[in-house]
Amino acid sequence: MFWTLFIWWDFFMKAFVYDRTHADWKNWVQERGEPAFRASQIMDWIYQKRVTSFEEMSNLPKGLRQCLSDSFDFAPLDNITTQQSADGTVKFLNRLHDGHAIETVIMRHHYGNSVCVTTQVGCRVGCTFCASTLGGLKRNLNAGEIVAQVVEAQRYLDREGERVGSVVIMGIGEPFENYDAMIQFIRVINDPKGLHIGQRHITVSTSGIVPNIYRFADEGLQVVLAISLHAPNQELRAKLMPVSRRFPLPELLEACQYYMEKTGRRITYEYALIGGKNDQPEHAHELGQLLAGTHCLVNLIPVNYVPERNYTRTPRNQIFEFKRILEGYKVNTTIRREHGSDIDAACGQLRAKHMDSGQKTS
Ligand code: SF4
Repeated sequence: MFWTLFIWWDFFMKAFVYDRTHADWKNWVQERGEPAFRASQIMDWIYQKRVTSFEEMSNLPKGLRQCLSDSFDFAPLDNITTQQSADGTVKFLNRLHDGHAIETVIMRHHYGNSVCVTTQVGCRVGCTFCASTLGGLKRNLNAGEIVAQVVEAQRYLDREGERVGSVVIMGIGEPFENYDAMIQFIRVINDPKGLHIGQRHITVSTSGIVPNIYRFADEGLQVVLAISLHAPNQELRAKLMPVSRRFPLPELLEACQYYMEKTGRRITYEYALIGGKNDQPEHAHELGQLLAGTHCLVNLIPVNYVPERNYTRTPRNQIFEFKRILEGYKVNTTIRREHGSDIDAACGQLRAKHMDSGQKTS
């Protein structure tokens, strides 16, 4: 009965207001015989004034407001819980219209606030160190549902007089398996009439869906591309990340080379250090040899403890040693600062807890 209701809902569901760029709105209003400036007014209400209903759009003609209301929804995210860390990290667990739960995180940096968004409900990629994949993939989010997460984060920051300065597409899901929605999301949040988040302040991370890396290289975007590498050779990578059996490491590195040549941009390789698995000096040497001479940055991530997986954390001195070895190969290396270590910091952990507690409504 419950599922029948949701299928019924999906069938009759309206589009979301956050799905659209200014150009999309311009087409929409002109198709209805309205002047183009109405598109700017709509964008202003949605992204600057951040209203949550069409009735509030007081400078629009009543007929147009009715037309908007007949055609669109605001994609409300219903807050289930919000966790706040002592370091300022804020983690939201929100319910979507069909009952699925997703996570969004605000992280504080010296250069501003960044928001980490979810692109799929669950994930089918199966990385062995990740809680988000434990229940498999339920569905893709559409662009508006991803944009809504940034708008909600901005509403939270409004109370502090702060703004979202950057966005990382690194939450639950593999964005390159929800490619079209991800690209539209980037275009909407980058829109000067909307949130206007600069492309260089947007990072998208993929586990290595090779065909879409080529596609992404050809989009003409200036977004930061991060690749989840996590191993210095194919054999180990295939054990940690099943996606590497579909797209082996040599093919992945070739695609990355194409991306760097096509865009002139540096690639970031994410490397989660997992105690005893991929964090030994020989792994660092192998990785250094693999990446030496390429235009890249390696970001070392001390892996978060996920109770469902039996992975231990790499000791601090070993992390620094790993970095030192990589730098010996002239590979730029950073260590990711931890955010929210006193809350359910690992991606998917809060959602997994919520599902375990039986509160899942889907
Ligand atoms: S790390 Fe990303 S791609 Fe891998 S399983 Fe988790 S959500 Fe999916």
